[in-house]
Amino acid sequence: MPQPSDQIRGSSAPTSPNSIIANRLYPIEDAPEAPDAKTPPKQPVNEEDDSLIDFSNMENGFVNDDRVIKKQIQNIEHAPMGDIGAITLHQTNSPTAQSTLNGWQTRKEGAHFLIGEDGTIYQVASLDKQTWHVGQLQSRCVNEKRCTDDEWQYYNDLEDKYRNQDSPNWADRAREIHAHEIEKDFPDRYPLNSESVGIEVVGKPDKNGVYPAPNAAQAASLKILVASLRKYYGIEDRNVLRHGQTGTRPPSECAKCNP
Ligand SMILES: [Zn+2]
Repeated sequence: MPQPSDQIRGSSAPTSPNSIIANRLYPIEDAPEAPDAKTPPKQPVNEEDDSLIDFSNMENGFVNDDRVIKKQIQNIEHAPMGDIGAITLHQTNSPTAQSTLNGWQTRKEGAHFLIGEDGTIYQVASLDKQTWHVGQLQSRCVNEKRCTDDEWQYYNDLEDKYRNQDSPNWADRAREIHAHEIEKDFPDRYPLNSESVGIEVVGKPDKNGVYPAPNAAQAASLKILVASLRKYYGIEDRNVLRHGQTGTRPPSECAKCNP
């Protein structure tokens, strides 16, 4: 689900903070060495694939292609977009595209694209405008196990601080991590709304809160949409990200989105 990134909400603490902490951190002495700072090689989309959607002929940030239905919802469009270097994948927590489109009419949060239950691709916001979908950031270097010694120290100290509280305030912890991360430059941290195209896939979690894999029609649409955006913006594979990984969301959100 989209979340405002500029406003910090108190209700977005992780659902199982203890398990997240247990899985996420290394003791300093076990921390793997930070990899070479060199940018990893790009994994370019196959340039021969002429079935890609052509984003070079956009009008006002909307693509012209029969496979993409334009349904502009202006109240989810915000400040001008910055340099796009990432895609963040989401699942809607709704049963149908129509229910999400209805919901966005009265909200500020949203994403640029919506993939319906039948695989239909809707573009709802201009790619010239930011949409609010990334929410609070987790630490990229912690999740990717590539922090510097100073960063491992910072995050271990932070976890100790909250672990040692009688009733830890997980919302405070999430705010603190976000505030620390936004001081870094992308791609050392996860992308902000100004750097990231947002794609929502219609999907509802099961009774245990676990999101399903996209169905076959959705997976096919997601694949072509992501490949097309990657080609046009030159987005590296490592910067196609899942909201369950980048934000304070259930880890399963789009965990099985594999474009
Ligand atoms: Zn989301």
